Amino acid sequence: MIHALFFALSLSVTTQDTLKAHSHLQILSHDQLAGRKTGTLHASIAADYIAKQFQNAGLSPVFTNYKVPFRYSSGFFGEKEAHNVLAVSEQIANRPTVVISAHFDHLGTKGRHIYNGADDNASGVAALITLASLIAKQPSRKLNYLFLATDAEESGLFGAREFIKASPIPLSNILININLDMLGVSKRNKLLGLYNAPSKAFIESLRTNTWHKNSEVKFTRGNGFYNRTIKNQRRRILDAGDHREFHRKRIAILYFGVGEHSNYHSQHDTYENIDHAFFDGSLHNIAKIISQLDANYQLLSRR
Ligand SMILES: [Zn+2]
Repeated sequence: MIHALFFALSLSVTTQDTLKAHSHLQILSHDQLAGRKTGTLHASIAADYIAKQFQNAGLSPVFTNYKVPFRYSSGFFGEKEAHNVLAVSEQIANRPTVVISAHFDHLGTKGRHIYNGADDNASGVAALITLASLIAKQPSRKLNYLFLATDAEESGLFGAREFIKASPIPLSNILININLDMLGVSKRNKLLGLYNAPSKAFIESLRTNTWHKNSEVKFTRGNGFYNRTIKNQRRRILDAGDHREFHRKRIAILYFGVGEHSNYHSQHDTYENIDHAFFDGSLHNIAKIISQLDANYQLLSRR
């Protein structure tokens, strides 16, 4: 136990790690997975793939299996079945825990068109799998890490809601949710790091002077809005993804993503349109931020 007081995570992403991440991204956004629409065989195959990666990383399932089915009610058509995929670094429920999440579902097909969802959100899931395997290899972490790939995000954040509802650890032990959603496309190489954490000292402690040059992290405190590209309206960033469900339970959140862009929710959100240099830079920077967080977590006090 004593060594844990002196050491913290020090994650570094190698070229081999980024190549593996690209391959996860390519597989998850392949035409054969037909846009990973919740409730389809394709989404179920995507969930199996993620579960296999967690297992290969040496992580434990949280429940009996990595892949956890749940039902949710939707519209006039009654109940739908979906699956979250969960794994943990340690089965210790009473340790402060970081929940790193990314949704794997997307829009499926419309007519002959496949909505591959490469940026939204094969990119976040590829990063989640990569971070999970890096964290699993480092026993000197101070915190417990839970990895959560959610389903049914596109239809209304149902996977994140289900996680909160049936949380395997007391919500008071969740230190922070780091949500990864859309890390693969950016016009100006800017990665948004949106947070609601109360302590300025905590956010300051996450900064480093060795950012990867291909992705510049812009930390922004809560309540910001962005202009939607598809409808002429503004939307609160805090509401625009799974992190919202954690925020609603007054859990600190840190969201990484790029917001909407011209390929957002279109058939052009493909692997070919991923900006690999930006994605790699973002992965490097998020790994650094998690290392800083592990070292400085005491600065993050619950409100
Ligand atoms: Zn998304």
